[in-house]
Amino acid sequence: MEPAADRQAFEVLENMADAVAVVGPGGELRWASRRLVELGIAVSDIPESARVPGEHRLELNGREGRVPVAVTASRCADAAVLLFKDLRPWVGARHAPTRPGRDLARALGGVFRGAMSVSGGEFESTEDAGAVAQVLAEQGRRLIPRTDCLIAIVDPGRPGRFRVAGGAGPWASTLLGHEFAIEGSLVERALAGRRTLETTGAQLETPHGHILASGDIRTSRLVPVVARSPLPDGRTAVGTIGFYSRRRTPFTDLQRRLMDDFAGLVSLSLMRAALRRAARVGAERLTLGLELASDLGRSLDTRTVLGRLLERALDAMAAERAVVLRVEGRETVVEDFRDRDGLPDLIGYRHPIDDQPLMRRAIATRAPVIGGRYAEGSLPERLRGALEAVRHTLTVPLVLAGQVVAVLVISRRRNVAFGADQVATMRLLGSLAVLALRNARLYEEAREADRVRSDFLNMAAHELRTPYTVIAGYLSMLADGSLGAAPPQWRQPLAILEAKSKELGQLVEDLLLAARLDTGSLPVQLQPVDLREAVEEAIERARPRAELVGADLALDPTAEPLRVRADPVLVGRALDNLINNALTYGREGMPWVRVGVRRDRESARIEVEDRGRGISGADRVRVFERFYRVDDARYPQQPGTGLGLYISRELTERQGGRLELEWSRAGEGSRFVLTLPVSRED
Ligand code: ADP
Repeated sequence: MEPAADRQAFEVLENMADAVAVVGPGGELRWASRRLVELGIAVSDIPESARVPGEHRLELNGREGRVPVAVTASRCADAAVLLFKDLRPWVGARHAPTRPGRDLARALGGVFRGAMSVSGGEFESTEDAGAVAQVLAEQGRRLIPRTDCLIAIVDPGRPGRFRVAGGAGPWASTLLGHEFAIEGSLVERALAGRRTLETTGAQLETPHGHILASGDIRTSRLVPVVARSPLPDGRTAVGTIGFYSRRRTPFTDLQRRLMDDFAGLVSLSLMRAALRRAARVGAERLTLGLELASDLGRSLDTRTVLGRLLERALDAMAAERAVVLRVEGRETVVEDFRDRDGLPDLIGYRHPIDDQPLMRRAIATRAPVIGGRYAEGSLPERLRGALEAVRHTLTVPLVLAGQVVAVLVISRRRNVAFGADQVATMRLLGSLAVLALRNARLYEEAREADRVRSDFLNMAAHELRTPYTVIAGYLSMLADGSLGAAPPQWRQPLAILEAKSKELGQLVEDLLLAARLDTGSLPVQLQPVDLREAVEEAIERARPRAELVGADLALDPTAEPLRVRADPVLVGRALDNLINNALTYGREGMPWVRVGVRRDRESARIEVEDRGRGISGADRVRVFERFYRVDDARYPQQPGTGLGLYISRELTERQGGRLELEWSRAGEGSRFVLTLPVSRED
């Protein structure tokens, strides 16, 4: 059997008034309720005949001697489910019939079968406690003739009231479906004391005395319907089952025992209904949560996310109106709303939190609040009209990192109050929504920051370009003597100026290129390119610098000609950057750089490897970010912008390729790999 389903079934069985055992085909005990253990009945004692479906009357060895029992056996898969009725209280009972054991076993066996069939025979239960209660009430009345039987249920989340869920008999049936305040009632007394309550002529003492009087009820016995362990909704007391008689005489002992035993069955059936309902509601809530999560996750636009949240909330809550309000200081601001009746709201409308007690409580406690209509007094006319017909509200704070950032108010115009189930569903919905909203907001902020940065980059690059060209032009004229021979003492400062101006030139170029990549205004012209040739040219361009720093820079001898479709200018630009980095961050004294070209299945690979300082940890990913530079005190600062790898990767990707840091180890070196798809014609 499946453990989770089992556990629930067994929990129900534990709550039964009598012992239960599940016995396998070989007579082996598979499960026994605590009661059986308490009775001290040895399962090995139970004859095989008792496992045949039906009713059996037996005497078994118990802890305190022989125990007369009635056994009701039924089949469940390959096992037999045995229900033991301890008949000891019946034997010798004052008002017992002449053959008490057999008749009682029969009466209870019949009742049990009836109860099991309404709550679902072979554990196929209905979850409708109302339907179960009504059938049970009718059975109760049949069991104790000349009484009215009434089953009162206290619904989860509504502790102040009870509802007549089952009523049989001329008086009780007229009360079916009615609700009453629990305070001061017999139901409250029976539930508070967790004990059976029998009264004769006591009706006038209770607030519902006139109702009892209307049915001419003089004697009543109320048995609480309680569970040993709490139900999933937290209740242990579900309600009461009551028998009501018009006679002045108390019930007989036999009637009392039948009533109390029957109450055990009623408890069992109602608990099962409640468990099944809880299982279904839980499953539904989970589905809703998953659907909402995927629904909200599909958009990063705050407005869309809010709209979806409101729609889902209205559907899930069967409500007419939903409003999301932002919390700003001591005020709420209407952010968005939905109204099934087409009534308006005022987006952007501000209202003091302290003016609305329901709102204040939800924000202060950070928990959903069930309530009635919001106070309309101080609201503008337009809103008053929309709120006028509202009967019930559920105010759900949306909490992020312990702070209430927004509130969702759900309203019903129909007279159906919100219950604990709905609060639980909204808690789930709210926590998903707040995450989706946060993501949407963060995304918007990041996009805005990005846009501002791009604009700035673009502007800065353009503004720098003109003065740079002028400076560079004059510098070269000074250096080459076009403006007259420079005094010898200028030579060194001029050389430094030229070097610095070159760095500045590179920076301006990088900035411009990055800005063009951002705005998508960089043209890409794909054409056949031999990568080995492209690499050879890049090495030649880097040669002067390599010689200057005494580097060993070479093309890997195994490099092969390899044709791809690419933009030769952009490939060259990315290669220049990789080779320059390998020289800059390479081994001090004598950098060693190898560039290889080879085919790897459908890709062309260019590898640029150095034996330099290497890159470690998170920096391996971050070096591709804009402006990111590794800050390592062990190495001298090098001029640069932190844009090179970002630009190189972007350029490669725009040609359908990839740029990755394939290998790197601190102090040992790095290998960057640029891959491009091989031309199909090849
Ligand atoms: P820049 O070289 O202008 O700083 P890049 O984007 O080209 O910008 O490189 C970013 C950072 O990555 C460099 O500052 C350096 O710290 C690190 N880096 C790049 N290439 C190498 C390499 N071959 N070996 C070690 N570190 C490197």
